[in-house]
Amino acid sequence: MKNFTYLASTKILFGKNRVEEIGNEIAAFGQTVLLAYGGGSIKKNGLYAKVLQVLERSSINVVELSGIQPNPRIESVREGIRLCRENKVDFILGVGGGSVIDCIKAISMGVHYEGDAWDFFIRKAKIGKVLPIGAILTLAATGSEMNGNTVISNEETLEKRASGHDSLRPIFSVLDPTYTFTVNTWQTAAGVVDVMSHIFEQYFTLDAGTFVQDAMAEGILKTCIKYGPTLLDDPENYEARANIMWASSLALNGLTVTGKMYGDWATHGIEHEVSAIYDLTHGAGLSILFPVWMKYVLSDRTVPKLAQYARNVWGVGHMDDHEAALEGIDKTRAFFTSLKMPTTLNEVNIDDKYIGQMAEGACKFGPIGVFQKLGKVDVEAILSQSL
Ligand code: NAP
Ligand code: FE
Repeated sequence: MKNFTYLASTKILFGKNRVEEIGNEIAAFGQTVLLAYGGGSIKKNGLYAKVLQVLERSSINVVELSGIQPNPRIESVREGIRLCRENKVDFILGVGGGSVIDCIKAISMGVHYEGDAWDFFIRKAKIGKVLPIGAILTLAATGSEMNGNTVISNEETLEKRASGHDSLRPIFSVLDPTYTFTVNTWQTAAGVVDVMSHIFEQYFTLDAGTFVQDAMAEGILKTCIKYGPTLLDDPENYEARANIMWASSLALNGLTVTGKMYGDWATHGIEHEVSAIYDLTHGAGLSILFPVWMKYVLSDRTVPKLAQYARNVWGVGHMDDHEAALEGIDKTRAFFTSLKMPTTLNEVNIDDKYIGQMAEGACKFGPIGVFQKLGKVDVEAILSQSL
């Protein structure tokens, strides 16, 4: 296990009705808030009215940014920055899924930056002074509620790129599982796949001696396997929603990558290329790509870890490592199918037209991945095998 520094500074307010407490949390930073949300799900389920009531009780002025889309666009970020500057906003509150929370992080870093916010995503600008942010999570998937990462899409350049910094971790996040009762089957399943994928990205490395991290990672994967199917049949099952919600935060708050050099992140990189061009739901893209990636990187070097995954997570029994690994990969694909997630690009009407461009984009800053380094030719092969 390597030396590490671990910071997970976000205060988590977990459970029913914790939204009541946000007034006090925000008032410490000032009296003017940018309230950011998506396409209206929070208006339908009553959360919007509740949040306004709580903010009013604490005499907080509200400026609104609505219409943040899934795969959030740089235009929403620019609009949010403008609103923050014009209204001298002290704090940004995002109410929604990963897209809303990612968008407020990008706004937060752009407010005090003179250039265009897209500069952060093409590595042209370094993150400096940020505005404090908080989140009310309504969809369990990304872990954005407890990390400093943000992913933004640019339709003009057909790019989807990530940025991040510890200073962008939300000050607080409200995790009330009842707010996720209204998430539909497709988004719920995509969220479960995303949680599992975040674990995969950090679990599949060649680091040794990280037993405790691996055991936590395997526990989070088993949580997804146990409760994911429940949610498809019984969307208002509090225990299942609560477990998946906490799993989403734990899967990507830095915990399971401690003591390791890096996570792999190649599959996320490839998926971002697919959703940049086709506006595909992130978890659906990962459902297609991850089993293919696992098989592609299977080699003498990687087989012990893939076999460990198969045995500890899927209970695959007495076989040699290679056979165990292959069975674990098959079980992963079958599980995603059972969640009604796609496992080929054809199923979501994607053909081979842009494979070259997507491979180029994924490797824009050089080869990707650490479990196995992938160049453009490898990414093309993975995308072709995903068709
Ligand atoms: P999302 O894009 O935030 O939301 C997807 C859809 O679910 C939206 O249409 C939204 O509708 C709806 N929705 C959200 N909460 C709902 C609720 N309670 N009831 C009914 N509908 C609800 O989904 P996400 O998976 O959380 O975020 C995906 C984005 O995060 C992608 O861009 C992905 O690349 C990124 N991501 C970020 C990280 C990170 O660490 N920051 C990690 C992985 C992925 P409304 O718009 O109407 O609310
Ligand atoms: Fe993700």
